[in-house]
Amino acid sequence: MPGLSGPRRRGRIPGVKVSVLLPAAGSGERIGRGPKAFLQVGGKTLLDWALEGFSWADELVVALPPGFQKEGLKTVLGGQTRQQSVYNLLQAATGEVVLVHDVARPFVVRAAVERLMEAVRAVGAATLAVPVPDTLVREEDQQYGEVISREHYRLVQTPQAFRRAILWQAHQQARAQGIEFTDDAQLVQWLGHPVALVEGDRRMFKVTYPEDLALAEGLAQVWSS
Ligand code: C5P
Repeated sequence: MPGLSGPRRRGRIPGVKVSVLLPAAGSGERIGRGPKAFLQVGGKTLLDWALEGFSWADELVVALPPGFQKEGLKTVLGGQTRQQSVYNLLQAATGEVVLVHDVARPFVVRAAVERLMEAVRAVGAATLAVPVPDTLVREEDQQYGEVISREHYRLVQTPQAFRRAILWQAHQQARAQGIEFTDDAQLVQWLGHPVALVEGDRRMFKVTYPEDLALAEGLAQVWSS
């Protein structure tokens, strides 16, 4: 990619257009209070947190559930699955580099995004990930089974960053073969392309269960990225 040296501001790579793609079309079933993107934390929606976290992007595109379009935003309709929503987002994206970020992670840590952008520049595909803090054990018939050495495992976060052409190729091939993955890094790895693992940040946790809303509310009160 050309023009990659010189000072950087937040996630920017000078001379390279960056599109941030926000899949926000999930139904939020595990919380059970409607689409998660529109839940409020610290006085604003999870979607607004993510939009503010990436306000530096050259382009922002959001996948929304039917009936939830939002004025003044570039939006696409979400799909049945996360992967289908990202496919729809990619069709609308124009940046050379795309960052895919789940709006279910409202807190965007600037330093982590900067690390990610360094890696995508070098490798073409990268994701944030954090170590496993607890002992990791296989559940076997509700009994304590084999312990897995946690130092070799990571919990994968978003954003994930890719050269758009690589992610687009992976999505097209997976779609043609009817294969569904839970994140975009898997898709690109499946295509045979290396994906850099970059140190994430535990504050970028995914709001998944009802109690996560209380944690997010607490973090929102002291937040400054
Ligand atoms: O359900 P989960 O939290 O794993 O979803 C991850 C992200 O994918 C969320 O931001 C959610 O809004 C999004 N999603 C989507 N379209 C779907 C399912 C999930 O955009 N059909």
